[in-house]
Amino acid sequence: MYCESRVAHVYFGDVEHIRPKAQDKYPELEFEWSNHGYCCARCNNAKKDQFDNDYPLIDPYSEDPNTHLLAFGSLLMHKAGSERGALTISTVDLNRPELIEQRSIRINELRNAIDACYRTSSNAVREMLLSALNQESEADKEFSMFAAALIAANQLELG
Ligand SMILES: [Zn+2]
Repeated sequence: MYCESRVAHVYFGDVEHIRPKAQDKYPELEFEWSNHGYCCARCNNAKKDQFDNDYPLIDPYSEDPNTHLLAFGSLLMHKAGSERGALTISTVDLNRPELIEQRSIRINELRNAIDACYRTSSNAVREMLLSALNQESEADKEFSMFAAALIAANQLELG
């Protein structure tokens, strides 16, 4: 829910308590579905029991992260003036070196696919490649925010 990494193929993933379940925080929300998220251990460990009711972390289940965050190359940035975006990035450590490396690999794969779209002289092949690219920016895909930004920056017309 935070870093957009694929976690299920290497382990089961963590149940994130958006509002911490610690006794001095929100123990009554420990089993509340709307307080649960699916996240990786690295994000869960970075976040720990941090939560500020006045500046809650961006919750991708109930709001659009694009309102607060933007993909800039392989870096995640907060939009100008979004304190919650800035807080989410620092609290969950969303520009840790391993993430930047994985995003770069993903971006390079997508760039190759974009180049292939431009290179082909076949309209049918171009349509097929553009359709495949379009799917890479869907929310269930790894680093979809970065894929969407790259596709938008290249002004590809997607059907
Ligand atoms: Zn994560």
